[in-house]
Amino acid sequence: MGNVIKMNNKKTFDVHPLDGDFMIDTKTILTDCDGVLLNWRDAFDAWMMREKNIFAGGDVNLYDQAVRYDLPPEEIFDHIKQFNSSANMGFLPPLYDSVKYVKKLHEEHGYKFTVITSLSLNQFAIKLRIQNLHNIFGEHVFDEIVCLDTGADKDEILKQYAEWNPGAFWLEDKVKNAIEGRKHGLRSYLMKHVHIKTEDRDGIPVVANWKQLYEEITGS
Ligand SMILES: [Mg+2]
Repeated sequence: MGNVIKMNNKKTFDVHPLDGDFMIDTKTILTDCDGVLLNWRDAFDAWMMREKNIFAGGDVNLYDQAVRYDLPPEEIFDHIKQFNSSANMGFLPPLYDSVKYVKKLHEEHGYKFTVITSLSLNQFAIKLRIQNLHNIFGEHVFDEIVCLDTGADKDEILKQYAEWNPGAFWLEDKVKNAIEGRKHGLRSYLMKHVHIKTEDRDGIPVVANWKQLYEEITGS
C-alpha cells in the first residue's frame, strides 16, 4: 500500500493489504484528525506567525493553505511539513466539542475510532500525535492510528478500510476525501468549517459539531 505507517497502542507495522490483524467491526468510526478531532489550523497559523513571521494574507476561507497564505504551493508545503514534523504535534488542542462526544460514543455506545491522517511519516511526529490523541481522548478510544505522508491522498487507504469496515461512518474536513470515502460505501460526513462550500460538496452531509454527528450515529 506504499507509504503508510499504522500504529496501535503497542506496535508499529507497515500495512500490507493481506495483513490479517484486523476485524470487521460495525462499531468502528473512521475519522480524519486535523480539522475534525484536533484544531490544526489555529495552531499552524500561530506557529507561522511566531516562528516564521508569516501571516495568512490570502483567502482565509479556503481549505488550501497555499491560497490561505497566498504562497507558492511548494513553499507552503515545506512549512506544513516542518510544522507537522515538529513537537507541536504533541500539543494540538481538541476541535470544537470533540472530547465530550468522542468519549460518549466510546463509553456509552461502544464505538472505537480508527484515525486516518496525512500527518507525516516522521516517526517522532507520529509518536507525538498518538500521545496527544491519547492524552486528550483516552487510550482506549482508538483502535488504530494510521499515518500517511504529509498531505497524501487517502484514496487507496479508504478503499482498504471500507473493505474492512463496510458502511462505517467516515468523518473529514477535506471534501475530496469525503467524496472518495462515499465512493467505497462509507457514510461520509464533513465537519463544518468556513472552507466547506455547499456547491463543492456533492451532497455530502455537513455536521456543525460533534454533537450533531453523535445524534446522527446514535439516532438520538
Ligand atoms: Mg483534515
